[in-house]
Amino acid sequence: MIGYGLILLAALAVAAVWIWRLRGQLTEARASDARERAALQRQHAIALGEQQERLAAVLAQMLEALIVVDPAGRIQLANRAAARLFGFQPPGAGRPLLEVVRHHEFAALLARLEHEPEVRDHELRHEGAVTRTLNVNAVRLLDASARPAGVLFVVHDLTALRKLEGMREEFVANVSHELRTPLSLIKGAAETLLDGGHQDPEARLRFLGIIDRHASRLNLLIEDLLLLSAIDSGRIALRSEPVDLRDLVEETMGDFRPAAGGRDIVLSNSLPATLRARGDAGRLRQVLSNLIDNAIKHGGKGTVEVGGAPLAAGWLQFWVRDEGPGIPEEARGRVFERFFRADKSRARPQGGGTGLGLAIVKNLVQAHGGDVRVESAEGRGTTFFIKLPAG
Ligand code: ADP
Repeated sequence: MIGYGLILLAALAVAAVWIWRLRGQLTEARASDARERAALQRQHAIALGEQQERLAAVLAQMLEALIVVDPAGRIQLANRAAARLFGFQPPGAGRPLLEVVRHHEFAALLARLEHEPEVRDHELRHEGAVTRTLNVNAVRLLDASARPAGVLFVVHDLTALRKLEGMREEFVANVSHELRTPLSLIKGAAETLLDGGHQDPEARLRFLGIIDRHASRLNLLIEDLLLLSAIDSGRIALRSEPVDLRDLVEETMGDFRPAAGGRDIVLSNSLPATLRARGDAGRLRQVLSNLIDNAIKHGGKGTVEVGGAPLAAGWLQFWVRDEGPGIPEEARGRVFERFFRADKSRARPQGGGTGLGLAIVKNLVQAHGGDVRVESAEGRGTTFFIKLPAG
């Protein structure tokens, strides 16, 4: 009996130890479960934080303005671009959308979105400190139970794009006009010759002269346009070498002496022999040619002087000065624009240049890292100043 009792006790003891161990293992397992859960929660929290940071960075970097409003039309979220565009202090949360954007069409959009899920590519003009063209996309938001949760607006500022389109259209219209004028003169002369004008030797010479002059003018225009387009797209490779400006001016003036002499204009080169620019001699000669040509063409009397002097810190300046009628004040700021002419009557159609000369000067000088400006007083002449790196 005792033996059985002992065996039973031993068995009980073994069972107790086994249960005790099992409990220990269970507690251990629960503890490790809890640790794993905590670790998992920490990971989720970190991932969530990272996601939020990424979202905030994306919103901050977006060029488009983004605004989320709640069903009552109050801002819930707005990015930096939105604050910049509509001129409010970010984040702007809680403020009524209409108070911030101050544009009645946003109210109309909110009303439309009560019936439509989205509005795409709605263009509107926004009058703020400047007038802007905006493209608005709006989407109705729903919560998890498909109840209205507000509206998301994404707004693109198209002002710069529209301005560029306007400039391109104006440019094409100008080019067409400039091409049409000499072309119609050439066509008219050719038709007159064909209609019998060729039989009269004097008329023949006159009309062939017209054809020749205006064909050259067309050629010049196309060369100037191609050059400007090459500068615009960075397709011209500029040399960077020391250029002796006095010699360059002397050579360039040589080309113009016959034209100047014919108009009683004196060309004077007063550049110091030591003045050297760093740049492309060929292109700088073109700059000089355009300025001297203008001084003769638009100046029309007295002396045309090219002078210059070193400036501080590795720069120099030269100038082309004439004693002509000057440029009216209202035109001074615009003479570097393509096709701008201060005196339309004088410049077209015969004798005038392409209207691109000063635009080429400005672009070439800027491609050298330099700058150009004009000073003029009506009736007392004009001076163009060019700043360039010294060689
Ligand atoms: P254009 O082919 O007409 O000379 P530019 O671009 O060279 O074109 O010059 C633009 C306009 O600036 C000219 O049409 C003229 O009205 C004015 N202008 C340029 N240079 C002078 C100058 N030296 N004196 C007076 N007006 C000038």
